[in-house]
Amino acid sequence: MSIGSYLNSYVKTSADESKKNKRKAKLPLVVATWNVKFATSKAWDILINGGSALDAVEQGCRVEEANEKGQSVGKGGLPDRDGQVTLDACIMNAEGNAGSVVYLKNITHAVSVARKVMEDTPHVMLAGKGAEEFALTKGFKKEKLLTDASKKSWEKWTKTSEYKPIINIENHDTIGMLAIDQQGDICGACTTSGLAYKMNGRVGDSPIIGAGLFVDNEVGGAVATGLGEEVVKSVGSFLIVELMRQGKTPQQACEEAIKRIVQKPNSDYKNFQVGYIAINKLGEIGAYSIHQWFSVTKFQNGRNHTTQSDYFNKNY
Ligand code: ASP
Repeated sequence: MSIGSYLNSYVKTSADESKKNKRKAKLPLVVATWNVKFATSKAWDILINGGSALDAVEQGCRVEEANEKGQSVGKGGLPDRDGQVTLDACIMNAEGNAGSVVYLKNITHAVSVARKVMEDTPHVMLAGKGAEEFALTKGFKKEKLLTDASKKSWEKWTKTSEYKPIINIENHDTIGMLAIDQQGDICGACTTSGLAYKMNGRVGDSPIIGAGLFVDNEVGGAVATGLGEEVVKSVGSFLIVELMRQGKTPQQACEEAIKRIVQKPNSDYKNFQVGYIAINKLGEIGAYSIHQWFSVTKFQNGRNHTTQSDYFNKNY
């Protein structure tokens, strides 16, 4: 066979495959870290009405940012050790563009500020005061993010001031969300107040493209929750998407990314949690964590439900 006809048949097979894939894909769908049915429901309404995956993940994350009862995201998030609530968030669209904010104070909807960074600036990431000033110029309102409940928790914490990552803090941490719309386009977003009682100035994985979130519209997307330092050091979400590109299912890719963390020499994984979720172009979903009780909410085929992920450490 000549190279030309080989290439022609290859191109034809790929086109057939992708048509077949489109037929098989169960779209639209949205999946998020933790038990966040109101958030996935908001995203689903957008998707089922023909809206974009980008609007779906932004609006879905906003539901949790506004929920003062959730002490790990947006308003009501637990503060750093000095009592300040600082938010990290990012977003990626189907064209591979990204926006992110880090160490953002006084603005509830960090994910929407991240989207504005992506759409209205030549940059990817804005930090601190600069991010806040940018948000104000875009019409965001200044708000007090430290609620009485979170202030109380922090005051209690100052009595010991012992800093250690808490596994599955109140079963709800960073909200990472991935969606595929009816066009088959994949987008993702991630929003958090970061680790409770972190050092002033600390930034986690959640606003870092490739660590807390990565989307490649040709392949799929992944998001992380848990101890951000470990996710950053292993570039977890990018790793998962690249593993899917090489042929792994979302589940296999999430498991491999967790293995990369726990199998490091002297890994202290027994004392921290990391969880990943991933989707591919077919609408297949993967989820895996180090420890038990990492949950995942998905809205697909008209059904919104939360399940526990499989996990690595079965030796309790
Ligand atoms: N990944 C977040 C961070 O390290 C925290 C979390 O998911 O609980 O900031």
